[in-house]
Amino acid sequence: MQYLEINGEDVKKIDVDKSTIEKYLGGTGIGIKILYENKVWEKDPLSEENILVISPGLLTGTGYPTASKTIFMARSPITKGVGRAAAGATIGPALKSRNIVSIILRGRYNKLTGIIIDEDVNIVDASKYSLKNTKETSDKILEEFGNYSTAIIGPAGEKLSLISSIECDGRQAARTGLGAVMGSKNIKFIAVKGKNIVEIEKKQSFREEIKKAMEYIKKDPRTNSDMKFGTGASFDQVNRFHGVFPAKNFQQSYFQDVYDKLKEGEVPQLDPSYWTTNYEWKYHPCPGCTKPCSRYVHVNSKKYGEFYVEGLEYETLYSLGSNLNISNFEDVAYLHYQADLLGLDAISAGATIGWAMEAYERGIIPEKYLEGMKINFGDANIAIELMKKMAYREGEIGNLLADGVKKASSIIGGKEFAVYSKGMEPPAYDVRGMYGMALAVATSVRGWDHLDAMAYVPELSGKFWFFENVNRRSPMNKGYLVKEMQDFSTFYDLTGICKFSRASLTPERVVDAISIFLDSKLSFRELMEASERVYNLQKLFNLKCGLSRDDDSLPPRIHYERIKKGPSEGMVIEKIEFERMLDEYYQARGWDNHGIPTRLKLKLLGLEDL
Ligand code: SF4
Repeated sequence: MQYLEINGEDVKKIDVDKSTIEKYLGGTGIGIKILYENKVWEKDPLSEENILVISPGLLTGTGYPTASKTIFMARSPITKGVGRAAAGATIGPALKSRNIVSIILRGRYNKLTGIIIDEDVNIVDASKYSLKNTKETSDKILEEFGNYSTAIIGPAGEKLSLISSIECDGRQAARTGLGAVMGSKNIKFIAVKGKNIVEIEKKQSFREEIKKAMEYIKKDPRTNSDMKFGTGASFDQVNRFHGVFPAKNFQQSYFQDVYDKLKEGEVPQLDPSYWTTNYEWKYHPCPGCTKPCSRYVHVNSKKYGEFYVEGLEYETLYSLGSNLNISNFEDVAYLHYQADLLGLDAISAGATIGWAMEAYERGIIPEKYLEGMKINFGDANIAIELMKKMAYREGEIGNLLADGVKKASSIIGGKEFAVYSKGMEPPAYDVRGMYGMALAVATSVRGWDHLDAMAYVPELSGKFWFFENVNRRSPMNKGYLVKEMQDFSTFYDLTGICKFSRASLTPERVVDAISIFLDSKLSFRELMEASERVYNLQKLFNLKCGLSRDDDSLPPRIHYERIKKGPSEGMVIEKIEFERMLDEYYQARGWDNHGIPTRLKLKLLGLEDL
């Protein structure tokens, strides 16, 4: 196993010890180890000294069911701490097939560049790809170089938008602004040609584990609904049943303007049962996925013409739908399609436009930004125009919104309704109705995020993994729940197994496959300890970056504005209650009151030398 380190024209292969793999496994584990050892916290995120790491999960590319994820990491330009984004990208298996556990990208090219990795590493001039969208870029790579697995930035990454993503063959490594880090290095694309399958010594035993995993997936009741409706399967439950689906920049907690007017028997257009039956679609699985949730939907629209959009995802039904008060399926699909083409994080882009719509409604956007525009909720044409302006930093308004809600609200005001944590915009849960989720998004090491802990799973179902009787309306024991769920969730970021296999492929069921793959016996306890170690290392990285207890926080709207209507009416996360949960969480973690890991905790996790 090797690191592939690329710095300008210099290319090095560095052997990686087996003990490093056993301690950090892969994905986020290897990524944060590299960032920490290189003291990346001292570097400006958009300087040539930042490092972009691409690390496939330990089991990614092995054929283990749904082990498909590759983790991108750097110091984030938006949170200023841990930058981390995952994608079910073909580039991960391609790297693993070449025995590469991580690409380490250093420095900055003096012109737009592409990196081609096959038997050699070739650095090529990519000037002619300048400001091409992600589809034009991947089509041109195919034409010029042939069939490679790619990681590409769109115009938003080139323009250093802090909410830009990295596109990987139809999948997005979207969060924490890593498109801008790649753009700051002047890298337009990385293309990798895979070789053979990943070598596994104990092939037969590993195959037995694959068989067991397939059985677990088959028996999981979620498998059918995921394959039928994708990640949108829980849309109705979160929106209508629980009333914790944000709308209009968190002014509402379910899609009120649509659902309050619904006639009997009517199916709203954003409901997955509408668009999965009224539009053609085909599966678009991540590499190695045996239960695809993901699809390309074929839209042939009078307004937008013909296009294929990946999704629609649960998250974009909120960020580009309810959050903007847009309920027409084709409008939301086209916005999603544009975000992917432009290389923008669809969650952050939608949240930023939603914030701008509320700012316009309140009359606080100065005319020099508006140039006659009317940024009203519900106006899809304006949302599309704004998205394009953001990606190209066009005009005063494009430049203002290109860096997300925190930056825009620090320039023109509107902090009191700006919804973010550690600088990152929220995904589709109104955490005022979910105590555990509120704590999870505030303490997440990569900023406001639903997948860092997946605390919504036990909170919405009441029961998950080793947790029972979980009540989303109560703060009781949420410190302990969030700690365990963060470590549980980190397990997936280490192994590359999809988080949508969380009910079927739990750590205790996967541990034998990992032991066989590593050819060294690992226990369930040691596996969870590895997750905890990596979570602590990410926390240490954030502390070195200057983040503190004050950053484990929520915005005013979550503490002081109660949910006005719906199943969660009246709920709010009072500041005093939040601080109590935070104390409990730090205790559960073995951290002091400032959120600093104690020396004993570091010793127990084998991190005492850091
Ligand atoms: S379940 Fe969906 S997200 Fe997960 S690996 Fe399969 S296609 Fe990808």
